Amino acid sequence: MYLYNSLSHKKELFIPNSPDQVKMYTCGPTVYHYAHIGNLRTYIMEDVLEKALRYQGYPVKRVMNITDVGHLASDADTGEDKMLKGAKRENKSVMEIAQFYTDAFFADCEKLNIKRPEVVEPATACIPEFIRIVQGLLEKGFAYIAGGNVYFDTSKLEKYYVFNDHDEEDLAVGVREGVEEDPNKRNRNDFVLWFTKSKFEDQALKWDSPWGVGYPGWHIECSGISMKHLGEDLDIHAGGIDNAFPHHTNEIAQSESYLGHKWCNYWFHVHHLNTDTGKMSKSKGEFLTVSLLERKGYDPMAYRLFCLQSHYRRNLVFSWENLDNAVVAYDKLIAKIAALQPGGDVEEEALAALRERFGKALDADLNTSLAVTAVYDVLKAKCSDDTKLAALAEFDTVLSLDLLSAAEKLRARQAQEAAQAADPRIDALVAQRTAAKKSRDFATADRIRDELKAQGIEIIDTPQGTKWRKV
Ligand code: AMP
Ligand code: ZN
Repeated sequence: MYLYNSLSHKKELFIPNSPDQVKMYTCGPTVYHYAHIGNLRTYIMEDVLEKALRYQGYPVKRVMNITDVGHLASDADTGEDKMLKGAKRENKSVMEIAQFYTDAFFADCEKLNIKRPEVVEPATACIPEFIRIVQGLLEKGFAYIAGGNVYFDTSKLEKYYVFNDHDEEDLAVGVREGVEEDPNKRNRNDFVLWFTKSKFEDQALKWDSPWGVGYPGWHIECSGISMKHLGEDLDIHAGGIDNAFPHHTNEIAQSESYLGHKWCNYWFHVHHLNTDTGKMSKSKGEFLTVSLLERKGYDPMAYRLFCLQSHYRRNLVFSWENLDNAVVAYDKLIAKIAALQPGGDVEEEALAALRERFGKALDADLNTSLAVTAVYDVLKAKCSDDTKLAALAEFDTVLSLDLLSAAEKLRARQAQEAAQAADPRIDALVAQRTAAKKSRDFATADRIRDELKAQGIEIIDTPQGTKWRKV
């Protein structure tokens, strides 16, 4: 499988450290609000990556953190803790907020068929790990204490900007814009590993440490949690592209300085979901959630398909019109699958050819839109319907679009509708009611409606005439 590696800026053949276990780490959500569908684009594509690796035969161990402390409103170590902001907004405790939005996040993931990673670890459960790493960095001379906080000293590194071809000045400005300089920092890119002093003294969660009572910086979380569950090396680290700098850059700086060797081989970054006014973000207040899509009548699977139809390394523009197009595509796809007639044999040779096309799409830097095309190719192929169903079942272990179960539901609905359409007794009663209404005999019309209701039949009056359905 070829994957684009942000570290080398090119597509590379994926070779794990050990074929027995691919170690994958994913930056988890900051649980101060609902995840928006932009966040969930990233989790959908990471989910496809994990499933594609499994499809290729690799056992994957995936770890994800839950950021419930230390993520400040600004990436430059200033501003209030996002969790505290959330707690104030809702008049709840930080832990209540964390629990509520962690549950909400996994409920959204379930609706989108995003598998739960093997390990999900809240940052607040790993304070001793973070302290150990910070201590190690101080001992090795990569960190210093100033104004009560512990900082990572980026001047001790040979190379700090690992991901970007950008100009260092540009990057620094990008982070710093509108942000006050922290006078304790020796170098402008230094970042806080452990806070005991901040402008916001009302930080709710604090722990004892060798440097005083305080709390960890956000970046140290991912290094600590990854090392706790995956050891000293990592095959793939994934996250949204906005995390590449400074978050992942700082993760690499502190992890490799602490360990004394290379930490992670492949960096997988998912580009953003944008609206026509720019990047979708939680802090902008109004944002789109899976629940909102559902309230508007959208099946979360249509959103998943919408994401899969574009490559993860391209920005994706969300609009209702684009989502409507995905709904049409999804419904058509499911209708075609529902029309397949099983009962024959699986033709192994034909299945192998279909499989090859699908595998090639995944191998080409997780080209999910080509993988979706491979699904359409299955439906067009000249082979038995059983072969097609076998291929679709297999591909859906990666795509997770509910291809077969949604088709099954559609078939059941179609069968019910057909059965209903052919019930002359009910048709006759409905016709009697229509006639009664026409002759203004409302008592009879109401009696028939009640009679049908008692039998579980609902009458629906539409401009095209009266219809009925079983409820
Ligand atoms: P957060 O909960 O803010 O820590 O973000 C969770 C994940 O969503 C991270 O991997 C972010 O990089 C990613 N993310 C944030 N905004 C977007 C967006 N508009 N589109 C795609 N991914 C995003
Ligand atoms: Zn992270």
